[in-house]
Amino acid sequence: MTLDSAPPPALERRVTSVSRRRRTLGERVYLVEVARGLGITIRHLLKNLFGRTRFYTTVFPEVKTVFPPRFRARHRLTKKEDGSPRCTACMCCATACPAGCIYIEAAEAPDPTVEKYPKTFDIDALVCIYCGYCVEACPCDAIRMDTGLFPPAGFERAQFVDDKDTLLSRVGIGPTEGEPGGVAPISGPRLENC
Ligand code: SF4
Ligand code: SF4
Repeated sequence: MTLDSAPPPALERRVTSVSRRRRTLGERVYLVEVARGLGITIRHLLKNLFGRTRFYTTVFPEVKTVFPPRFRARHRLTKKEDGSPRCTACMCCATACPAGCIYIEAAEAPDPTVEKYPKTFDIDALVCIYCGYCVEACPCDAIRMDTGLFPPAGFERAQFVDDKDTLLSRVGIGPTEGEPGGVAPISGPRLENC
């Protein structure tokens, strides 16, 4: 088919001619439309000023938004029954992390049944995008984002780096398995070697 040839009948039937509406004099002058736009803005301003219950703004940090149970909060490292880190320094989380904000230094574990443990485990919360891939990638359920803690506020970059002790000291507030948004328990055959 050349460009000059007529469109096929099926396509011809779908073509609809639309005539462009001519703008009125008021629209062409623009001043009326500008005044109309300002009127809408002022109307919303007054409505929000005198109807404060409709405000969507939260007075943070005094008032904190209540997030759903599966909200991806700041990280924590889980522990075994004896209090040692469940993490085996396998690097799966650091490999899966798209932001590259997990730094792990592995060392030989004192427990002969476990090959390695994380001598260093840092997460830079300034770089983290809170995607949760690290939690998904972990084969040991050793890292979770169920602390309910907000991303931090601070003045020094160092304040935003969570080290191993900080991560281990946090506790989870997430719902247990079986409840809405529940997470798997720290047990099961998959975790025997963790
Ligand atoms: S939440 Fe995402 S960006 Fe943050 S540490 Fe985990 S994988 Fe990396
Ligand atoms: S937290 Fe999980 S995925 Fe990351 S190094 Fe430890 S065991 Fe591996």
